[in-house]
Amino acid sequence: MISAAERKMQFLFSLRSRGVTNKRVLNAMEKVDRGKYIRGTFEDRAYEDTPLPIACGQTISQPSIVALMTEALDVQPRDKVLEIGTGSGYQAAILSQLARRIYTVDRHGRLVRAARSIFEAEDISNITALIADGSRGLPDQAPFDRILLTAASEDPPGPLLSQLRVGGIMVLPVGQSNTVQTLVKIVKTETGLEYHELRSVRFVPLLEGLGKENS
Ligand code: SAH
Repeated sequence: MISAAERKMQFLFSLRSRGVTNKRVLNAMEKVDRGKYIRGTFEDRAYEDTPLPIACGQTISQPSIVALMTEALDVQPRDKVLEIGTGSGYQAAILSQLARRIYTVDRHGRLVRAARSIFEAEDISNITALIADGSRGLPDQAPFDRILLTAASEDPPGPLLSQLRVGGIMVLPVGQSNTVQTLVKIVKTETGLEYHELRSVRFVPLLEGLGKENS
């Protein structure tokens, strides 16, 4: 058996070998223990670079993809960030190390409640996790400096684009569900939107409305 410390070293090594070079992002990934965000059968696979099932039929993303998305978002220390798709809370926890304030929403109340209790146990106090349909954004808290979607939509949702500050960045998987999607970075400028296609990814779909148990 290899020790927890060795597994974490290997974890960081595998991120570097997949092209994650940004120091701030690697530091954040080192600080946040992915094992805390995975419960049950898959707990012992927390330090593998692979997506894993979580509750409500959802998945915690692959760590190297979390890292690349975080890198693409280019989060600054004073930023207010919106994440759509709390899931396990892992991505939000990474963002919480890099920005001033994180809002994260999920359509499944069960996931939001579980994530909140981990944030509390881990002493993370700059994340607000809410049960909401993220395709509408969070108008009360807008505008945001950065917006990250961790569920795929066919087009960037209009309300989210309008809740992004000028100079802001949005990163999201674009494409139909169950096919290969493209990770896109959108920069909002004074004159419009710049699109950059980053790579192929595969995410669960962005669904409308709240999960059944909440409606
Ligand atoms: N970021 C997560 C992984 C998210 S998986 C992590 O770090 O673990 C995608 C999540 O998006 C799922 O939990 C799903 O419930 C959520 N989701 C899908 N459509 C949504 C919507 N319209 N609003 C909010 N959350 C949504």
